[in-house]
Amino acid sequence: MSIVDGDGKPITSPNGSASGANGVTQQGPAPRAGAAELMDDYEAGELAVQFDDQEPEDLLRWAFERFGDRVAIITSFQVDSLVLLDMAWNINPDVRVITVDTGRLPQETYELIDKVRDKYNIKIEVRYPEAAHVEGMVRKHGMNLFRKSVPMRLLCCHFRKVIPLQNALEDLDAWITGLRRDQWATRANIRKVDLDHDHGGIVKLNPLADWSEDDVWAYIREYDVPYHPLYDQGYTSIGCVPCTRPIQPGEDNRAGRWWWETNAPKECGMHCPIETGGFMHEVHAILGDEADIKKLSGH
Ligand code: SF4
Repeated sequence: MSIVDGDGKPITSPNGSASGANGVTQQGPAPRAGAAELMDDYEAGELAVQFDDQEPEDLLRWAFERFGDRVAIITSFQVDSLVLLDMAWNINPDVRVITVDTGRLPQETYELIDKVRDKYNIKIEVRYPEAAHVEGMVRKHGMNLFRKSVPMRLLCCHFRKVIPLQNALEDLDAWITGLRRDQWATRANIRKVDLDHDHGGIVKLNPLADWSEDDVWAYIREYDVPYHPLYDQGYTSIGCVPCTRPIQPGEDNRAGRWWWETNAPKECGMHCPIETGGFMHEVHAILGDEADIKKLSGH
């Protein structure tokens, strides 16, 4: 099945050739274009306005046409990105799907990964932390360092999530996320098309930015999309086992993440850089000469 546009016509790849029977991933990813060639802030702003009132599928279709196999959905297998995966797969069955296995995920997440893999017959690219990074961190601070302080939690997220994500994005010109504006204050102003200056100026696409939680669940139910079983146990945002719990009545949807912390962002640094001198100092202390602080901090 080829990638098709809204009229059912084959979409051409960025190099001008029509996608073949297997879509755009026949040759493996092409080299990344220079950041300056990808898109500038002006074009990103214009596209953000253009797509803001359009359907998510319109943006996905455009993304496959523009970036070919150098765009991927980055997912932690929460409902938002599974909606996108279902939509994207219906446009391009060869859509690239990338996830990060932190090593602390619930068993249900691993089962869901395989369920999605089987249902859509797709290869899911699983990225892992560097063993040496985790070993150094645990040797110095213990298995459950995230309970000790916010900087220790950010350190764990940095080695287990942020660096593997950075490595995955180096292979891409654009990434697709399930971020929505109503999820948390830090996400209230996200645009559907943006330049990700924290990751080399590649393009970041948030097709569900203006969707509500109800919109997401309506899609999941209408199209029978697989979803994480922990949602049925009161979880509303699902990450690593020790850092996620169900929310209490009246709590915000992300209140179950790092619930013991006060006055800390409900973010891990994957979607926005978090500045605390404390944890970057520890990154350097653990990695020693290997540390490229400029790169590791995303700047
Ligand atoms: Fe570590 Fe918790 Fe972050 Fe997972 S969510 S990477 S266990 S601090």
